[in-house]
Amino acid sequence: MNLKNNLFNWYHIYKRDLPWRNTQNPYYIWISEIILQQTRVNQGYDYFKRFIDRFPDIITLANSEEQDVLIIWQGLGYYSRARNIHSAAKKIMKEFNGIFPNKYEDILNLKGIGEYSAGAIASLAFKKPFPAIDGNVQRVISRLYEIDKPISSANGKNEIKNIVLSLMDKNNPDIFNQSLIELGALICKPLNPDCEICPINNHCFAFKNKTQQNFPVKIKTNKPRDRFFYYIVIKIKKANQEYIYINKRLKNDIWKNLYDFPLIESNSQIPLNDNVFNDISNLLMHKNFIISKISSTVKHQLSHQTIYATFIEIETEQEIIDKTTYNLIPIRLLKDYPLPKLIENYVEKILLH
Ligand code: SF4
Repeated sequence: MNLKNNLFNWYHIYKRDLPWRNTQNPYYIWISEIILQQTRVNQGYDYFKRFIDRFPDIITLANSEEQDVLIIWQGLGYYSRARNIHSAAKKIMKEFNGIFPNKYEDILNLKGIGEYSAGAIASLAFKKPFPAIDGNVQRVISRLYEIDKPISSANGKNEIKNIVLSLMDKNNPDIFNQSLIELGALICKPLNPDCEICPINNHCFAFKNKTQQNFPVKIKTNKPRDRFFYYIVIKIKKANQEYIYINKRLKNDIWKNLYDFPLIESNSQIPLNDNVFNDISNLLMHKNFIISKISSTVKHQLSHQTIYATFIEIETEQEIIDKTTYNLIPIRLLKDYPLPKLIENYVEKILLH
């Protein structure tokens, strides 16, 4: 049997039953593909359902506030994905009358859609023979053919793309792409691939030569950058209500358009001594305050950065900082704002506990 037959037979028996597999609705496929980037399927499944429940179609999504989209996305990370989905929905309304475009180039031109997602949508929703090469497919192909070029290099990417195109089933591009992705996810795993039960092991050079662990070839990436965040959590009691200052992150940095607290940032750990307290005092415009609690340092890992966060809780009875930069809100409304996971954890486990 040839490689494709083996692969398709295996896929039909063992594929996982996922909601975005049972549809050709390009909107559902688009949302699922974006959610599943950098997200495990189990976690992505719940977010996909929540997203589709809240924004069942393109028009609902386009007419929503970005903040509502970020709230549904909260905890998934890589928030630019949510902002891009929202902006692409608006473009589809404006330029395509709310109908998801079916041309590969038009799909690729939507914000946040790269070659992989465009290929996935074009093949799964419109049965067009474009490859959808994610990390799973790169791993399968690089092992099958012992590709010695780094998968992140232009040469490595081209070689894999050409092989996928040469194997492509033009009548069933949706099944072809999905079965390669599924094989990478379930059998040809990064560590300990299940080669003995792999349906295409008789075509695989890495299996034959026992070189599976040498592929895919990767270039060493830089160590993540360390950042030290000292959050100043300012609580104010007014008329029996507790308020808190929050900060909308507007810069082109992590968590853009999400909310956190007034922040003192450093490239290295700083001792909590008079210098820090002077910085806090400057932030509070030299009004009176009491430090009520200092948390232990929390380590929060992002893909290219490691955040070490300390929360310094401050209590006061006056409004004491610059209101043009920070918003003062009732503490009970904090959860109505989109928060990064680090802040959400702190709010749930410590602040509101
Ligand atoms: S035989 Fe092993 S290395 Fe080759 S494709 Fe299958 S699982 Fe991957």
